[in-house]
Amino acid sequence: MPHDVTFIPGDGTGPELAEATRRVLEATGVQFAWDEQPAGEDVYREEGTPFPDRTLASIRRTTVGIKGPTTTPVGSGFRSVNVLLRKELDLYACVRPCKAYEGVRTRFPETDIVIVRENTEGMYVGIEFENGTEPQAEVRATCARLGFEIPQDSGISLKYLSVHGSERIVEYAFEYAKANGRRKVTAAHKANIMKFSDGLFLEVARRVAERHPDIEFEDRIIDNLCNQLVSRPEEYDVVVLPNLYGDIVSDLGAGLIGGLGLAPGANIGTAAAMFEATHGSAPKYKGLNKVNPTALMLSGVLMLRHLGEREAADRLEGAIAAVIARGDKVTYDLKPTRDDPTAVGTSEFADAVIEEMNA
Ligand code: NAD
Repeated sequence: MPHDVTFIPGDGTGPELAEATRRVLEATGVQFAWDEQPAGEDVYREEGTPFPDRTLASIRRTTVGIKGPTTTPVGSGFRSVNVLLRKELDLYACVRPCKAYEGVRTRFPETDIVIVRENTEGMYVGIEFENGTEPQAEVRATCARLGFEIPQDSGISLKYLSVHGSERIVEYAFEYAKANGRRKVTAAHKANIMKFSDGLFLEVARRVAERHPDIEFEDRIIDNLCNQLVSRPEEYDVVVLPNLYGDIVSDLGAGLIGGLGLAPGANIGTAAAMFEATHGSAPKYKGLNKVNPTALMLSGVLMLRHLGEREAADRLEGAIAAVIARGDKVTYDLKPTRDDPTAVGTSEFADAVIEEMNA
C-alpha cells in the first residue's frame, strides 16, 4: 500500500527544494500517493488566502505532510502559514535534529543533538497589549491591583506554560529518546527568574523523568545551555525547551552543524505530522536551481522514520551523507567559497543522491 502524503511545494525556492526531495524519496523504492496542495504567497495572490481549506483538509485526511518553505510578509499581508498549521493541527512538538555530517565545515564536528521545542505555548501565544490602547490600560490596572507596577508607556506580551502542555512535550522528548536510541534528555528553562511558568515546566519535567529511569535526565538554565552548546555540544543529546528558547536554540543548532541548508525539522501533533526544513523560502534564489535541498531531504528522512520505513530512511540519510562527505557534487553553500564554480544546482544534488543510493 502506498503511503498517503500531502505534498506542499510552498513558494520562493520551496518548489525546487520540494521537487528534489520528492525525487529522492521516490528513489528509495517506498511507494507514495502524493496529494499536492498549495500554501504560501503564490496561492495568496491567486485566491486571497495563503492556506486554502483544501490544503488543511488534505493533511487532516492523510495525517502526514511534507512542506517546502513559505514566505511570511513582515508587518502586513497574511499570517504565517506555519503558525496557522501548528494551531489548526495542534502540532505541539517541533523536532529539529542537529547532526554534523563529515565534509561540512563546522568547528563542532562532534555535534549530534536533537532539539525538541514546545510549539503551542510560551511567548508565542500571541496575547499582546499595544502601548496606548484601552486593553493595555486594563491589564496595567489589573496588575497594579495585584501589586505589580507596569510603566504606562509599555507594550505587553503575556506568556503561559501549562501542566498539560509541559507534560506532553517532555513526555514526547523521552519517547523520542527511547525510540531513537538516545541516552539523555536535558530540560532547559529560566526557572530561577520565572518561577511560576518556567518553574512549572521544570517541576513537570522532573516528574516525567521519574517515569523514565532508563534515560538520564538533567536540567540547565537557558543562558548556561547556550554557553555550553557553543563550547561542548558533544555533551548534549535530546534537549527539550519551551517555545521561545526552542526557536532560538534551533537556529543555534543549525549554526553548529554548518548552516541552515542542512537543518531538518518535524512538527508533530496527536492527529498529524508535518515535515519541513528549519530555513525559510530564501526568495532571492527563487528559480535559480541553486540552494541546498539537504535540509528538506533530511526532513524527508524523518518522515520515512515516522511512516515506519526505517531501512529506506537509513539508506537515504546514508546517501546524502556520502554525497556531502565526497564534496564534489554539492551546492554552493557546502563549497570552500560561495562562488566556487564546481558547485552543482539543487536538482543535480538530487541526481547525486539518487546515484549514490543506486550504487
Ligand atoms: P531564509 O532561511 O529563507 O534565508 C536566509 C539565508 O539563508 C538565505 O538568503 C540563504 O543565504 C541561506 N539559506 C536558507 N536556506 C538555504 C538553503 N536551502 N541552501 C542554502 N542557503 C540557504 O530566511 P529569511 O530570508 O529570513 O526568510 C525568508 C522568508 O521565509 C520569510 O518570509 C520568512 O518568514 C520565511 N520563513 C519560512 C519558514 C518556513 O516556511 N518554515 C521558516 C523560516 C522563515
